Amino acid sequence: MGKSRTDFIDKTKEILLKRRDALRKALAGDLSMLKELEQTAGDVVDFALDSAQDELSSQLAEVESRELAQIDKALERIRGGSFGECEGCGCKIPVARLQALPYATLCIKCQRELEELGEDGVSWLQNSDEVSI
Ligand SMILES: [Zn+2]
Repeated sequence: MGKSRTDFIDKTKEILLKRRDALRKALAGDLSMLKELEQTAGDVVDFALDSAQDELSSQLAEVESRELAQIDKALERIRGGSFGECEGCGCKIPVARLQALPYATLCIKCQRELEELGEDGVSWLQNSDEVSI
């Protein structure tokens, strides 16, 4: 188990770094787009369209910012050597779960307990579903 888990974490780190770069670029693009929209907001004719785009961009930026924070946290955990450990019970989260959900910081059991407490089940898959663009 030891080596393949280390390999898996190395690969995950690479994927996370690439995804972080991509997200940062997208976010930078979104923000400059938002600034442009603000400057043209005085145009009444285009206002409805602008505000619709504006809303979409800020929603997207919010999701991207949230994912960036999750990526940073995961990379921090990789550096600190605690990646893949459950924050709830300290067990090793199965590789299969980490493959589906690289930002998971809880094992399935602890995640379920948290969800029963009424917390938002924040997962990569759910985030992707929110943004249907
Ligand atoms: Zn746990």
